[in-house]
Amino acid sequence: MTFPWENVAWVLLDMDGTLLDKHFDDYFWETLVPEEFARTRGVSLAAARQDVFARYKREEGTLNWTDIDFWSRELDLDIPALKEGIRHLIEVHPDAEDFLKFLRRRQKQVILVTNAHWKTLDLKMAHTGLLDYFDKVVSSFDLGYPKEDLRFWRILQEQLAFQPRQAMLVDDNADVLATARRYGIKYLFFKARSSSQLPPAKNSDFPALLSFHELMF
Ligand SMILES: [Mg+2]
Repeated sequence: MTFPWENVAWVLLDMDGTLLDKHFDDYFWETLVPEEFARTRGVSLAAARQDVFARYKREEGTLNWTDIDFWSRELDLDIPALKEGIRHLIEVHPDAEDFLKFLRRRQKQVILVTNAHWKTLDLKMAHTGLLDYFDKVVSSFDLGYPKEDLRFWRILQEQLAFQPRQAMLVDDNADVLATARRYGIKYLFFKARSSSQLPPAKNSDFPALLSFHELMF
């Protein structure tokens, strides 16, 4: 792959699944939370999974989806404490730090753009030590809209004064990439291998990256 790095001034990077192994989040929401819900409610794991997954489904694409205080109330569980309890499972994708170093050398403006709640973001940055690689870290909770909403990008541009035609976004969420495309962000990449435990996801709308090394030259 050739890539016109000279045309890119801003590199916007998603966190979960893109830089960090999404296995942590999948395990947390699909296994640990239903187990705790079953335990505290005294219901079967199957019933708990059905109930919890239906609640997730209702909040897809909204800020509630990643609002761990919302889920604490909704499920009557201490979600931040549960996350803290498995923080040792948070992993950086093996290619991520190399790419962040590469971007530093290239003197790009590197912005973390995430739908993660601040509490999740703080926990993950503290655990991984990646914070210093970013010129700016932006959570959807700062802007009031998730990345799937055009208003997220509008407000982000107002705040950072970046040029969409000179910006790149890498994300493992195709809906987010589609919104960014509508907004005019020019260089879009789909991070296909979001979890170390799952096969790469398929997507035909955006160029797929299995590894950041494909862009490092
Ligand atoms: Mg992601």
